Amino acid sequence: MPPLSEFCNSRREWLIGVLTGLVRLESPTTDPAAVDRCGERLAEHLGEMGGAVERIPSSTSGAHLRATFGSASAARQVMLLGHFDTVWPVGQIERMPLRESDGRLYGPGVFDMKAGIVIGMLAVRALAAASRLDDLRVVMLWTADEERGSRSSRGLVEEEARGSSAVFVLEPALPGGAVKTGRKGCGEFELRVRGVPAHAGIDPTRGASAIDELAAQIRAIGALRDHGRGVTLNVGVIEGGDRPNVVAEHARAVIDARAATMEDAHRIEQSMQALRPVLERTSLEVGGGFSRPPFERTEEVARLYHVARSIAAGMGRDLGEGTTGGGSDGNFTGALGVPTLDGLGAVGDGAHALDEHVVTADLTWRAALLAELIARSGSGQELAP
Ligand SMILES: [Zn+2]
Repeated sequence: MPPLSEFCNSRREWLIGVLTGLVRLESPTTDPAAVDRCGERLAEHLGEMGGAVERIPSSTSGAHLRATFGSASAARQVMLLGHFDTVWPVGQIERMPLRESDGRLYGPGVFDMKAGIVIGMLAVRALAAASRLDDLRVVMLWTADEERGSRSSRGLVEEEARGSSAVFVLEPALPGGAVKTGRKGCGEFELRVRGVPAHAGIDPTRGASAIDELAAQIRAIGALRDHGRGVTLNVGVIEGGDRPNVVAEHARAVIDARAATMEDAHRIEQSMQALRPVLERTSLEVGGGFSRPPFERTEEVARLYHVARSIAAGMGRDLGEGTTGGGSDGNFTGALGVPTLDGLGAVGDGAHALDEHVVTADLTWRAALLAELIARSGSGQELAP
């Protein structure tokens, strides 16, 4: 067995111990004190591993963490990316107790994505133990606001990615363990409609209904969909009007938009801004846009995937690939054109669901795979045909 695999397999208990410790420290994005309790524990582990750890305060959650390993003067940098905030409130662990059963470890945030963080940590420990960090710098960026749109971490993510030859995102794998070589871009729009109020019984023609206008706009928005090209628009929220006997003055809708390519994302933004009222005396106001650009499967992304696939094959594993409609911070690094591979984290199921879990038998080989991938990317070998 290659030494990286051997090392990772022999540290299974360490991995499970660190992981369960992090899951117990619940860390919802919206509770900065709780996020920081988890972040402090994580920072301790990273320090023990020999990392230079920085806490980077954020305006949207607890502090983000950046840890640097290997040689500060190395020509090449590889980035590991993920988040330690979760969607679950503090106390959720009472409803979703940490437990191991049938080879699965259950708990809030275990799959999305505390197990991914620990996989990344074990990979770097394996590289250090094999003295393979000497000409390489590995930067881990573990952010604290991903589940709320990464507003304060986006700049940091992009800054580190620009200096990296590859970015490995430790978000959960696709079902069965496949990695993600593309993600749709994600947008949110708000459409506000203004009409003219009037008494619905006495003087209806004096009014102009914002609700009628919104209904027409919902049809117009539906016409922008193109499922074949991966363009989706979902009018997920509508509201409007005050009383049944009043012609509605106000109505609004909130729309989720996804697109697989930058071109389609721009087209949707333009089309949304180009919406015009259908009914006389109503007006529209459109806000919002794409907050995560699409992460497209470029040639370099495909090449990185093929390297990962061949490393996995050498370990007797079949590593599949796929794309997803869900966003991650990998959207930012992929959109910058930095070779990115996402979904390298845990195998499991139930992200944001009550049965959230990881398959424990898959944790250590994913770490060994990542370790080899980091070493090759850091040496430039991934660029070889
Ligand atoms: Zn996640």
